[in-house]
Amino acid sequence: MTSTPVIERSPKTWDETKTTTCYMCACRCGIKVYLKDGSITYIEGNRDHPVNKGVICGKGAAGIKQHTSPSRLSKPLLRVGERGAGEFKEIEWDEALSLATRWFSDVRKSDPKKLAFFTGRDQSQGLTSWWATQFGTPNYAAHGGFCSVNMAAAGLYTFGGAFWEFGEPDWEHTKYFMLFGVAEDHGSNPIKAGIGKLKKRGAKFVSINPIKTGYSAVADEWIGIRPGTDGLFVGALIHELLAAGEIDAPSLRDFTNAAWLVRDNLDHADHGLFLIGEDGQPLVWDGVRKAPASSADVIESRSLLGRYVLPDGTKTATSLHLIAERYLDQSWSSEAVETRCGVPAKTIKRIAAELAHHAFHEKVELDVPWTDHYGRTHKTMVGRPVSMHAMRGISAHANGFQTCRAVHLLQILLGTIDAPGGFRYKAPYPRPIPPAIKPTGKSGQVFPNEPLPGPPLGFITSPDDLLIDEKGTPQRIDKAYSWDAPLAAHGMMHMVITNAAKKDPYGIDVLFMYMANMSWNSAMNVPDTIKYLTMKDETTGDYVIPKIIYSDAYASEMVHYADLILPDTTYLERWDCISLLDRPISEADGPADSIRQPVVAPDRDVRPFQTVLLDLGARLGLPGMTTAEGKPRYPGGYEDYIVNHERAPGIGPLAGYRGVDGTLSGKGAPNPDQLKRYIKNGCHFFHELAPEQKYFKHVNKIYLDFATGFGLIEAPNAIIHQLYCEPLQKFKLAAEGHGAVQPPETHRKRLIEAFDPIPNWYPPFEGKMIDETKFPMHAVTQRPMAMYHAWGSQNQWLRQILGRNWLYIAHQRAASLGIKDGDWVTLTSHHGQIRAQAKLMNGVNPDTVWTWNAIGKRSGTWGLENNAPESKQGFLLNHLISELLPEREGGYRFSNSDPVTGQAAWYDLRVRLEKAADVNGLSAPQFPDLKPVRAAQ
Ligand code: SF4
Repeated sequence: MTSTPVIERSPKTWDETKTTTCYMCACRCGIKVYLKDGSITYIEGNRDHPVNKGVICGKGAAGIKQHTSPSRLSKPLLRVGERGAGEFKEIEWDEALSLATRWFSDVRKSDPKKLAFFTGRDQSQGLTSWWATQFGTPNYAAHGGFCSVNMAAAGLYTFGGAFWEFGEPDWEHTKYFMLFGVAEDHGSNPIKAGIGKLKKRGAKFVSINPIKTGYSAVADEWIGIRPGTDGLFVGALIHELLAAGEIDAPSLRDFTNAAWLVRDNLDHADHGLFLIGEDGQPLVWDGVRKAPASSADVIESRSLLGRYVLPDGTKTATSLHLIAERYLDQSWSSEAVETRCGVPAKTIKRIAAELAHHAFHEKVELDVPWTDHYGRTHKTMVGRPVSMHAMRGISAHANGFQTCRAVHLLQILLGTIDAPGGFRYKAPYPRPIPPAIKPTGKSGQVFPNEPLPGPPLGFITSPDDLLIDEKGTPQRIDKAYSWDAPLAAHGMMHMVITNAAKKDPYGIDVLFMYMANMSWNSAMNVPDTIKYLTMKDETTGDYVIPKIIYSDAYASEMVHYADLILPDTTYLERWDCISLLDRPISEADGPADSIRQPVVAPDRDVRPFQTVLLDLGARLGLPGMTTAEGKPRYPGGYEDYIVNHERAPGIGPLAGYRGVDGTLSGKGAPNPDQLKRYIKNGCHFFHELAPEQKYFKHVNKIYLDFATGFGLIEAPNAIIHQLYCEPLQKFKLAAEGHGAVQPPETHRKRLIEAFDPIPNWYPPFEGKMIDETKFPMHAVTQRPMAMYHAWGSQNQWLRQILGRNWLYIAHQRAASLGIKDGDWVTLTSHHGQIRAQAKLMNGVNPDTVWTWNAIGKRSGTWGLENNAPESKQGFLLNHLISELLPEREGGYRFSNSDPVTGQAAWYDLRVRLEKAADVNGLSAPQFPDLKPVRAAQ
């Protein structure tokens, strides 16, 4: 008799689990990592985590392959050949840090602004911006300027919050959800889970996007809009709602500046500014007394509409009156915009009616009393269950700031901001409008060997705040906060290399970058960026950008153009904090933050960038990073800083488990056991608000008191929504010739057009400046579900899903050009040409072609074989985009950006599509192969 073999059908594949936070995209889900014999075997979602509640996506699960990627760097590298030649020698950390310290020190003691420090999609901006402040350079920013800064700025100047991850739809109560220009970016698992909830409850989901992929593919209604026209579409919705009188008058009157009086004094320096009373408060018109009154004294009898003449003869109108005059004009009617948007008038009218119906006739009422900032108690929380969310489809256009303001205006007119069923703030928002932090970097603020008196980034409210000198010359290398981009809240990273190479406004000595693939998929205009990175001074023979220090975990394209490489760890090998001082993981129901802990130790000679930064700070003797005795203040590295750093008394990077015994939240002394407490709690901290604090936070007295005590805001003042944006009017007045700080003549026209205090729409610049008949189509990218930025397409598992990209074209357009599925085509812009292989589809605006973002790779990088499909068939649209617009009157070339915030206008791209020959099955352009940089084995 033979014995039956015993098969272990479910062998235990782990002997240990650890929690941490995912970094495979921006959502920062909690994960549980399984280990066996010290090696990672499996990653799953952490069921107890507030962000994802156990859900994990394909990217998150593939984190193992990110951690073991063959493209990981393994040791500090010093360039020994020419830039781009791939000739490096390995050096020890001490030599690398000594060299970096010497380069930095030389700059700091002569002119600190000659260090430009810019970071990519890292999650430690609380630390990096503080480091730049301590160093004394204003030339600092993260990647927000080429991501979606105009969206953040539009929100922060309008309602004290923003889309991005700073708020979310009220998934539990919303009945009508509109999503503008979101594929999978900045909202992966949370939006998927939210849409799932809507589907279960039968709520309607409308997606506005030229392309029907990802979320749009599961929407109840897809609006395949023409790129760059969302502002027109939203304006037409506003027109229809105002014409029908379907607005939330009480909330506009009480909680916004709709009733504030605006001066009507055309051609004078105070035209369009608010009238301020003797008590320092804006004036309103008291409709009962028929007289002006302080907004602090009169609430219910404020007039929302009307033009009024004050007793002293001053002519005024309410903000809402001006807004209504604009949008009731027939130029905003559905019929007037339908052709430009590619959305039929009857569809726009129906959607406006659906919005009104859901906001005002399907209202949600929570049996929760709350008290507003006037001290009035409301018996219930009455909601308007219409929610909206938006992202890069809105923001990557030159008109994105105003378009996003228009979306916020629509939300506010419907009374849906932080109302049950609407769009909800996440802590630390709402914050004062705009946040009361001004950028630092004027000439009297930058001195050798001294920290800046304030942070490099902030929010300006008038031309007086601009970082320019008396001649109007920009003070920052990226020209942020100059007349080129006055409200550049996150800087303009896409202009740094161009400006530095052209020494416009000045040259720099050291370019220091982290996780920013600026020589490839993060560059507008790849060939010229490479040219600038390798350009030499003809007289000295030195590089025009003399020194480039770069830190990354992987052998990206940018590594090849740096002089000194500081290899970073992967996200599973280090401490991190996802902080309320930066971009936390808060939920609408309460503040939350989280940490990463090293799940495994690095098996290479690499160090966490944040620890390296603190080490460099101590070597340089930066005050915040050095003790009075000249010793490192955080000798234990980043984890030491996370626990012990205090930005203000009692306020540190993490809000949870503060105080010596860990019993305080928000504010409290450092707790030496804080990280242990986080780990015990699954690496996160969440403070759930009381029911009476959860909605109307901007005007909710109990919430505002809480937020002040918790350290989220400085004072419990109401955050009044700014439909009419006075700071914009101040810039417009300057452009019209008023005030002491005046723009150059070249800038006046565009400032007058763009700095409209009432949300407005203007055509994207690129389309306006080229011959549209030669470039009749739009070209945009979408974020794929399986990848995030450039990191994903080196991942062995994710590459199997998307190993290359295609150019997607509408069937009808392809047929008219004789293009069949699989044909090769050329795309030509005013700037360049690419060759790609076509795929035909139905779900795309017929005037638009598109592809997946950041799949194309340069041969010889990211640890991929030279003939990898990513480089031979993959391609980027970046080669068609210029960082500068065509020359304008006066010869000035503006950056290809939103003129308000400097946001890169990636999606304004106009192209011509033609059938092409198959050239050996290769996409074009093909850049020379790079010599692979030695990476981890
Ligand atoms: S959604 Fe993003 S953060 Fe969450 S598991 Fe997926 S990749 Fe990770």
